[in-house]
Amino acid sequence: MSLVAGVIRRLDEKVVNRIAAGEVIQRPANAIKEMIENCLDAQASAIQVTVREGGLKLIQVQDNGSGIRREDLDIVCERFTTSKLRAFEDLASIATYGFRGEALASISHVAHVTVTSKTAEAKCAYRASYSDGKLKAPPKPCAGNQGTQITVEDLFYNVATRRKALKNPSEEYGKILDVVGRYSVHNSGVSFSVKKQGETVPDIRTLTNATVVDNIRSIFGNAVSRELIEVGCDDPLLAFRMKGFISNANYSVKKCIFLLFINHRLVESSALRKAMESVYAAYLPKNSHPFLYLSLEIAPQNVDVNVHPTKHEVHFLHEDSILERVQQHIEGRLLGANSSRTYFTQTLLPGMAGPVPEGAKSAAGASAPPPGPSDRVSAQHMVRTDSREQKLDAFLQPVSRSSVERPEGRTAAGAGQPDEEMEELPEPAAGAPRPPEGLEQGERPPPEAACPKKRPREDSDVEMREDEMTAACCPRRRVVKLTSVLTLQDEISERGHEALREMLRDHSFVGCVSPQWALAQYQTRLYLLNTTCLSEELFYQILICDFANFGILRLSEPAPLYDLAMLALDHPESGWTEEDGPKEGLAEYIVEFLKRKAEMLADYFSLEIDEEGNVTGLPLLLDNYVPQLEGLPMFVLRLATEVNWDEEKECFQSLSKECARFYAIRKQYVAEEDHEKEECESSPVSWKWTVEHILYKAFRSHLFPPTHFSEDGNILQLANLPDLYKVFERC
Ligand code: ADP
Ligand code: MG
Repeated sequence: MSLVAGVIRRLDEKVVNRIAAGEVIQRPANAIKEMIENCLDAQASAIQVTVREGGLKLIQVQDNGSGIRREDLDIVCERFTTSKLRAFEDLASIATYGFRGEALASISHVAHVTVTSKTAEAKCAYRASYSDGKLKAPPKPCAGNQGTQITVEDLFYNVATRRKALKNPSEEYGKILDVVGRYSVHNSGVSFSVKKQGETVPDIRTLTNATVVDNIRSIFGNAVSRELIEVGCDDPLLAFRMKGFISNANYSVKKCIFLLFINHRLVESSALRKAMESVYAAYLPKNSHPFLYLSLEIAPQNVDVNVHPTKHEVHFLHEDSILERVQQHIEGRLLGANSSRTYFTQTLLPGMAGPVPEGAKSAAGASAPPPGPSDRVSAQHMVRTDSREQKLDAFLQPVSRSSVERPEGRTAAGAGQPDEEMEELPEPAAGAPRPPEGLEQGERPPPEAACPKKRPREDSDVEMREDEMTAACCPRRRVVKLTSVLTLQDEISERGHEALREMLRDHSFVGCVSPQWALAQYQTRLYLLNTTCLSEELFYQILICDFANFGILRLSEPAPLYDLAMLALDHPESGWTEEDGPKEGLAEYIVEFLKRKAEMLADYFSLEIDEEGNVTGLPLLLDNYVPQLEGLPMFVLRLATEVNWDEEKECFQSLSKECARFYAIRKQYVAEEDHEKEECESSPVSWKWTVEHILYKAFRSHLFPPTHFSEDGNILQLANLPDLYKVFERC
């Protein structure tokens, strides 16, 4: 067998051009993309695309841009003719889509091209037809509006293989709609339309004055347009800027929709796509994906656009850093804007797991800052642990955010202070010169591990006058040696539940459901807590553990016991019937009875009753907390009827129970707030603020929850993050 050497021939120029054309124009959608870019380069504000058979038979692109001058029509379809680039150096600062003068030439090598164009200066339009990059005949004058119309017929008529590969016109039409749709989103301010030849209704139609979101709505539908978050960041060091819109966690699609423009050029970037999908993986059910439209502008000298014939891929300097920066921004925006799922998807901020330092807490605004570069945590480990992060209020009532912020000067400063400061604090009751039996002055209280931490006593400024007398002397805490009280203290520690205490101590507050119910998170679990019951228990424990050491809330006006008792008896809750005798008589009896107990009530409970039978002061159990005074009448009545006054221990216990019942936060707040809505909104202290910053703060340090709370539904576990993940996995 003899070998025959092949003859090397120079390829025919037409063949070379046709091969080159095939690289630039792979399908109708590529041709249309190039043509649209030319329209945009020519400053068009309206672009109409008409196609037949998915663009294989006909593509017509009409614009109202600057037009092409008569003399340029001769060479417009030749390779490397362009009005946009002169020297190689210009490539570094290229601001137009086109620069290679290759598109029209390529198209004309694989299709029949006709250009009709009129500039502002020309008296009429000119039309010219091209074949293989060459003008077929001199341009002919014709009628026409300013702008350019380019017609491409029989695409790939001379490339049989390509024609065969593209035999599904509807698939091609889909790709055309996709490309034009994306450009129309990116170019709000320019109107676009796409239709099949012969049809009257276009499949894409956007308006010149439409916004980006309008265009997303019209191209991608209502559902996504309602769930968009605007994004935007820039970095002068990396010399880039990014803006766009992304879907939030409420929206997902089967396939990721990612519109990426780099320097206004529609491109693909699998690296960026991956980075984005990994951010969303924490938010979306398995196998569902987000919608993203991102426009990146990178300093032109840092971008190499000339790496691919279709200009589909671009490379740029600092690619990794820019990707990371964009990813962080998106992550932060999702965290900030994510709605109903926020509480179990917040990033774990290092060092923030425990109670937040006071300074940091008051400095934090309603919206948390996006996590910084060092805060990155992989998605599956995300859990909300920082109570400064958005709470329920932030998305339930976006307008009245001020109500969840810490009001100036109203820090619950007393709540967690060290014991050392206690000795500086004044005695509670004026005119209680000597401690009664069982109480001594001058010793520090022994450490009582079981009891909630002692609070210093302070006179409250809330609705009360300063009491000059209490500010005077007697700095020492009184030590309680009453067996009855010590036994009650022991009982509190005996029924306490360690795990619940730990949960309360380290919880993150999520939000109030109502004055009675609130949500809190501990580790990966979400709890529903009965604030009313917990606060009642808190006040009971304070009353027992701080026995005889309370400050005073002085009423601005003395409240007559008689009137209070009458009010209570009028209330159905009192259960008064005629058999009980006349109310007046009962009320008088109550006044006399309580007056006899006044000394003890004042001394042990800081509950002050003057000689005329008026309530003048109530115990200050928790700094900045004032009980709902509409409960005072019933409290007075129950003091006389429900307290066991005969046995010492039972007396202190039932008295404390009644007092705690009065102090617990109750439902009435709702009605009150509705009633005085305007006032509440302008007032710095709302019940929500009180619940979060006074009560739950005190729960952390002062409450030793009894075991039964875990069994009677007062502390209820609602959800657990690992279980939720399992639910999502199934979606
Ligand atoms: P490039 O866009 O890289 O310059 P093209 O082959 O796409 O190359 O276009 C060649 C030239 O034809 C452009 O530089 C421009 O001057 C002119 N041109 C093409 N389309 C239009 C249009 N729609 N309006 C005005 N000028 C156009
Ligand atoms: Mg071009």
